Amino acid sequence: MKTQQKKSWKVADSAALYGIDGWGKGRFSISEKGEITATIPFDTGDVTVPIIDIIQAARDRDHELPLLLRIENLLDARVAEINETFQQAITKADYRGSYRGVFPVKVNQQCTVIEEISRFGADYGHGLEAGSKAELLLCLANLNDNGLLICNGSKDREFIDLGLWANKLGHQCFFVIESPSELPLIIERSRKLGIKPLIGLRIKISSKVGGLWTETSGDRSSFGLSTAQLIATVDQLRQVKMLDCLQLLHCHLGSQIPDIEEIRIAVREASRFYADLAAENVPLKYLDLGGGLAVDYIGNQSLHSHSRNYNLADYCDCLVETIKKTLAPLEIDHPVIITESGRATVAHTSILLFEILNVVSYVANELPDRQPDQSHPLVTSQYNLYQNAETIDLSEGYTKALSNRDNIRDLFRSGVITLRERAMAENLFLAIAQTLSKRLDQLDKIPLTLSSLKQNLADIYYGNFSVFQSLPDTWAIGQMFPIMPVHRLDEFPERNATISDLTCDCDGKLDRFILAGGESQTLPLHTLKTGEDYILGAFLMGAYQETLGDLHNLFGYTNVISIRINNEGGFDVTKEQSGDTISEVLNMLEYNPALFYKGFRDKVELAVKQKRIDVKERQQILNQFSAQLNGQTYFKV
Ligand SMILES: *Cc1c(COP(=O)(O)O)cnc(C)c1O
Repeated sequence: MKTQQKKSWKVADSAALYGIDGWGKGRFSISEKGEITATIPFDTGDVTVPIIDIIQAARDRDHELPLLLRIENLLDARVAEINETFQQAITKADYRGSYRGVFPVKVNQQCTVIEEISRFGADYGHGLEAGSKAELLLCLANLNDNGLLICNGSKDREFIDLGLWANKLGHQCFFVIESPSELPLIIERSRKLGIKPLIGLRIKISSKVGGLWTETSGDRSSFGLSTAQLIATVDQLRQVKMLDCLQLLHCHLGSQIPDIEEIRIAVREASRFYADLAAENVPLKYLDLGGGLAVDYIGNQSLHSHSRNYNLADYCDCLVETIKKTLAPLEIDHPVIITESGRATVAHTSILLFEILNVVSYVANELPDRQPDQSHPLVTSQYNLYQNAETIDLSEGYTKALSNRDNIRDLFRSGVITLRERAMAENLFLAIAQTLSKRLDQLDKIPLTLSSLKQNLADIYYGNFSVFQSLPDTWAIGQMFPIMPVHRLDEFPERNATISDLTCDCDGKLDRFILAGGESQTLPLHTLKTGEDYILGAFLMGAYQETLGDLHNLFGYTNVISIRINNEGGFDVTKEQSGDTISEVLNMLEYNPALFYKGFRDKVELAVKQKRIDVKERQQILNQFSAQLNGQTYFKV
């Protein structure tokens, strides 16, 4: 960043730097005061609320950071948008079928999310998708009257019985058959209970898609029927006179598909399956194209695995038009199109907010202005580089300083160089790197040989959160989320940083960031001010993170609040949930915190007897122990 930019830094510069207009799409932006805001359009005009005000409202209710914030309107808006955009595509293409969305609950099973999708989605007949028995129960308890219930995954007798009863209750519950072995049990239970099943078949699409989840499609995918199995299953249903139950074809290509052309090819293949089965008089009505609708985390509409080269309207048009075109030679009813968009429905609704606890900077300490006598030649060489750092060739100088540093460490290991000399040499290295880095800022393009320079100098900002609990996909599959400060955006972010979490795990860090519509290994952040919070937000993290999170280092759920922005210009806190206490987390690991307390009490009592502490101290210790058992797992500021 050139220095003149630093002085005249504006909110718009922050917006460009963090790419918020790209991924925020008007939902999130930066106010004149330099604070991130969430905006909801109402008939009476837009209402904009600063995130920092919501944090204050949570704190007033005793919910400290780290905090998971859900904005209910953003979830409603996505459900509405998906349904209405499909409707527009259907009208535009003169398509003779309708659209029915279902939400796959595995993407976010949290009660507030499922309840809201079901409540708000009722007008659209937005349904749910279950992949396990627990999810089936959850769906049955929450499904609105109009929504479809799609059951994927393995189904045992209990699962099938309950699904059949659901049909009798008036729901439309589809069993999607993923492997040929499932059918006999469905036939048997259906006969036993005297209830007709609704059956779908999951097909394997041979065209592969790009992105991070390519293994879900293709011949070797672990899900779905091969064409031979598909034909055999159809024949079997015909034979037992249950062909009328087979009403749905299902496929799922994988999540976050960046390229619309690959979606088109796969939809064409799925439509060909539909056409040929329909031509054989299979009474199909529904074509379920699964998930895959991508979220533009980067915000640059590209083929990057974290982006997509299409928008929602393109996606809807693509599905509707491709199905219509592929089925055109046949005089059959157009199928009801189902999609199971998970990520695209919930990603935007949640934000993880956490404060920075402290910063470790890689800056040189004060250095002697004269070279020490009798140093080792390598230390002398390093000192010379330091003195000439303003003028030496950038690449050559950096490479030399790096190799000096490494050789000096080798010499220390073999006893040639003392600890003090090593400390001095490493200090020199930092000083050289700092000067070179400043010179680098004046260049338009960073030479490849210097790409690690900034990273070597980056600060580590320690955040009050756990990657493993709150952003597990960043660790597991290299997922990136837009991360940025929620305030001070009218100030120049003068530091470059990576972020570490509270766990004692070297994987508990964030070192790939979305920046300026691209990717960066460091994130520009502001210098901490004493006595002031510095709060970062991880955005678009509503999909897949919450239930995949684990208890690494025993960090539990954070506090959660849901808010709804209202048309009076403010917001209401609609739901709140305190994070896990230490006692609750220990319970999950089969400890009994009550016995736990007793064991500790005995230990403390013994110390009284042995006169190591007095009774008063005993009481202090036990009170603390007990308070912490009932307190939360995160850092208390
Ligand atoms: C995971 C999954 C989805 C959701 O996919 P997204 O890409 O998140 O929309 C949909 N259907 C099935 C069968 C799934 O397994």
